[in-house]
Amino acid sequence: MNAPSASVTEPVLRLRGVRRAFGDHVVLDGIDLDVAAHEVVALVGASGSGKSTLLRTINLIEQVDDGEILLRGEEVSDPRVDADGVRARIGVVFQHYNLFPHLSVLDNVTLASRLVHRVPRAEAERRGLELLASIGLADFARAFPDRLSGGQQQRAAIVRAIATGPELLLLDEVTSALDPELVGEVLALVRSLADGGTTIVMATHEMAFAREVADRVVFLDAGRIIEDAPARQFFEAPREERTREFLARFL
Ligand code: ADP
Ligand code: MG
Repeated sequence: MNAPSASVTEPVLRLRGVRRAFGDHVVLDGIDLDVAAHEVVALVGASGSGKSTLLRTINLIEQVDDGEILLRGEEVSDPRVDADGVRARIGVVFQHYNLFPHLSVLDNVTLASRLVHRVPRAEAERRGLELLASIGLADFARAFPDRLSGGQQQRAAIVRAIATGPELLLLDEVTSALDPELVGEVLALVRSLADGGTTIVMATHEMAFAREVADRVVFLDAGRIIEDAPARQFFEAPREERTREFLARFL
């Protein structure tokens, strides 16, 4: 019998012993994490636990001091790797200020396709309009971002991040800057991407959402993974005392 081919079993993302310090403050303290294709992983933990730094490290915005990051088996944390080429394979949405204010919504959505992936303008715009229509924003294609509500801006930022068909989508608390009534529409879009098979790593404070949408939940505390478990087990039967203390805050 043949062993399964590497492309089938290889995780989209693999972190091995990732360490990052700012001065003598160790912010990521030996992170091991695998994310399989189509998997949705929620990163949870108190403010300051290292969630954003971890996402920024995966996207090569932060360098690793030690350890390695592999994207489909390729070591991308090697300083000799073309970081822009790696970033072109990863979609990212942050907490706020995602859209370029001086570009129309459609130009925001098509920019990377056109400039990084060299997709002809007409084709990029057709796809961009399709994406905007899918989130009910076709009428805003030619508008500037400040015409959109915060929830509409985040949804546009999310479709911009997936417009180039990235291998991995990183979401960093994409709803935490929004008024409560706008959170639902953004989570609904993330849910539909998850249902559609997008591989996602998302830092979130939305525990009910993590429980519903994530396959796995990873709990970070002071730069270490304390617990990494299937979502249901994480919430219903956490193994670690620190996880229980953390979850108790959300009751
Ligand atoms: P989280 O997203 O979980 O709130 P962060 O990754 O933003 O956590 O931050 C983790 C810790 O790293 C915090 O103590 C923060 O102050 C520190 N930190 C993050 N970025 C920097 C930086 N560029 N320089 C110094 N300290 C930083
Ligand atoms: Mg953060």
